[in-house]
Amino acid sequence: MPGAARPRAAAQGFGVIEATGTTISTGTAEAALCDSGWQEVTVDDCGTPLDVGRTRRLFNRMQREALAVRDGGCMWPECQQAPAFTEAHHIEHWKRDRGRTDLDNGILLCRFHHLLLHNNHWAVRRETDGRFWLTPPSTIDPDRVAIPLESKNLLTRARQRRRGAEAGARTGAIVDTNAGDIPSLMRATRFAGSPG
Ligand SMILES: [Zn+2]
Ligand SMILES: [Zn+2]
Repeated sequence: MPGAARPRAAAQGFGVIEATGTTISTGTAEAALCDSGWQEVTVDDCGTPLDVGRTRRLFNRMQREALAVRDGGCMWPECQQAPAFTEAHHIEHWKRDRGRTDLDNGILLCRFHHLLLHNNHWAVRRETDGRFWLTPPSTIDPDRVAIPLESKNLLTRARQRRRGAEAGARTGAIVDTNAGDIPSLMRATRFAGSPG
């Protein structure tokens, strides 16, 4: 969340934007914490700091570029927001699930859908074949039927579909994750996009 005030952790069911004093929902605070650096400060009943915890590890610039190539923008169904307008969401939440800041634990979502996910308890799941699924909350779909998420990058999409077809042909074969494909995809994108 560049340029925005850092919200305090929302242990009591709400968060506060320090700069303005505005109260925000736990989901909004979690979305902000998911995409920006933070430092946990534990306080006693009087508000006196007991310890100052670790600074959280962010998705770095190279990871974001790789995610931009892989996801091609916001991964929410039908959303057309470009990578520049997305944030990196930890699929296994950094704090709640002790999620890692690894590419296979990250997914790009625009601000709107990132907030929607946290506020309304949607869940993203990544299968071992590298495909992502979005599970709605029971308030939206009582059966919680997972929705497949497709990359908005046509190149990535073609590769994933080809790999899916190959995997289908080799019954029982173990499918590689896409980690090895990202550097070549990035190179391809850079060549395509570089002037001259
Ligand atoms: Zn998130
Ligand atoms: Zn979106």
